[in-house]
Amino acid sequence: MMNLFRTFRVGISGPPGVGKSTFIEALGTFLCQKDFRVAVLAVDPSSARTGGSILGDVTRMDELTKHKNAFVRGSPSRGTLGGVTRSTTDAIALCETFGYNVILVETVGVGQSETMVEGMTDVFLLLSPPAGGDELQGIKKGIMELVDIIVVNKADGELLPIAKRAAADYKAALHFGTPKNPLWVPQVRICSARTKDNVAEVWKTMNQYWEQMEKEGVMESKRKSQRKAWMWRMVQEELVKRFERNPRVQSTLIEVQREVEEGRLTAGLAADLLMDSFGASQ
Ligand code: GDP
Repeated sequence: MMNLFRTFRVGISGPPGVGKSTFIEALGTFLCQKDFRVAVLAVDPSSARTGGSILGDVTRMDELTKHKNAFVRGSPSRGTLGGVTRSTTDAIALCETFGYNVILVETVGVGQSETMVEGMTDVFLLLSPPAGGDELQGIKKGIMELVDIIVVNKADGELLPIAKRAAADYKAALHFGTPKNPLWVPQVRICSARTKDNVAEVWKTMNQYWEQMEKEGVMESKRKSQRKAWMWRMVQEELVKRFERNPRVQSTLIEVQREVEEGRLTAGLAADLLMDSFGASQ
């Protein structure tokens, strides 16, 4: 069982409106009452483009924000992927240093940000709407390779039967495709963040995951390889920045690019030329 002396990094993803804030409020408050110290961080690289913010949500985490055991970071990380990785991983480390032991990292949307959050957390949860068939298809692609636990939210009132059906669909879908983790079969749960029904059940499942990983001794090794991957991601991004800013690269870039476009120079040779001019000026 996850205990107060360890830290647990939890990635939570799902489309807008699925109930992420409501769920984090419910789970976070539940954990605070159990004496865990809970930090909530948000990742939204897309806001670099739109300037929007997903954590107007703080207001929707009213109870949690006020709890003495909780810390909710109000502004989402912005900027390049490397920049966001850096600020978020730094924030995770800082929260842990200050004694927060459950770190909930929320992300919205698809693709890069989810992959990134999966790469910085111990367990990755997908929150799904209680929807059927076609609506689920969009979610299923790609994300199924990342997910450890699928939680069909809004399993209350009239939506309960639909949620149950969605959960069954997910279970069936999980039979196909290669499991990301040979030690864990992704689990599907239903819950209602609004009524708090089954939120404890979701936590229990997260703990089963924790126990399984601990038993196999892979929790720490996963974190080790994650840290190495973050370092490389940051190095790569910084290298590209320096490359683009480099005066010798800049002076040849336009010409070389045109030659490549016109097919007079192969992409490989062009890259060699540019790297040579970059290297020569080091
Ligand atoms: P987010 O955009 O994923 O953060 O979603 P929100 O937490 O803001 O919730 C979006 C809407 O769904 C709000 O109107 C919530 O009240 C509602 N909602 C969230 N969780 C539940 C739930 O478990 N059941 C029902 N019926 N509605 C919910």
